[in-house]
Amino acid sequence: MKKTTFLTMIGILIVLSGSILAVNLRKSPHVNSQTFYTFGKDGQQNGFAFPALQYGYDALEPYIDKATVEIHYSKHHRAYFDKFLAAVKGTEMETMSLEAIFSAISKYPDAVRNNAGGFYNHTLYWENMAPKAGGLPGGNLAAAIDKSFGSFDKFKEQFGTAGKTKFASGWAWLILDKTGALQVTTTSNQDNPLMDIVDRRGTPLLALDVWEHAYYLKYQNKRADYVDAFWNLINWPEVQKRYDIALLKK
Ligand code: MN
Repeated sequence: MKKTTFLTMIGILIVLSGSILAVNLRKSPHVNSQTFYTFGKDGQQNGFAFPALQYGYDALEPYIDKATVEIHYSKHHRAYFDKFLAAVKGTEMETMSLEAIFSAISKYPDAVRNNAGGFYNHTLYWENMAPKAGGLPGGNLAAAIDKSFGSFDKFKEQFGTAGKTKFASGWAWLILDKTGALQVTTTSNQDNPLMDIVDRRGTPLLALDVWEHAYYLKYQNKRADYVDAFWNLINWPEVQKRYDIALLKK
């Protein structure tokens, strides 16, 4: 083989591997972008997307029943999404990120606050559960939980109590706050810790819906049993991913 041919081939290989890398980088999910937005050919956000459920309606049995998941996802979550689109149509929010909307939510109408919250919160909730999940977190997340709460069991007790005792409709959260500590907090209605109107702000890592529609068909008034069952469904790798991204954004 001639030396020039050899060098040309090496050059082609370098260019090819460079473009493959570029394509993969473009495809790699960043800040759950694929979940909330659709992107045009140029990679720019061109709309909000209703996320697909990553498992079947019956996949969370026996902890959450099929009928509840189906109604909760296809009716409740969908309605928040549709009403959110209607509420932001023709406004500056149409091309904003959800994070930017939440950080200025006090200046927007209640229809945006309720429905943007409902859209976002439920997306986190479905994604932070999975069939045959549960168990324990690992790595730096496990270490951070120990550091912030004393132990996993103490975190579990605090989060469980938050979910069980939250008055009326709302959410229990594990968040990363701006000091780098993990905290358990709750919000009412469809508010979330990214909003500028809540007491404790932070990046949501784990979301638990404690509205009655999340559990009533199976558990009726026994919300505590639903909260206890949730530990069998937590998708810790997803929570870990959110934690890693939140640390990078700090
Ligand atoms: Mn809900």
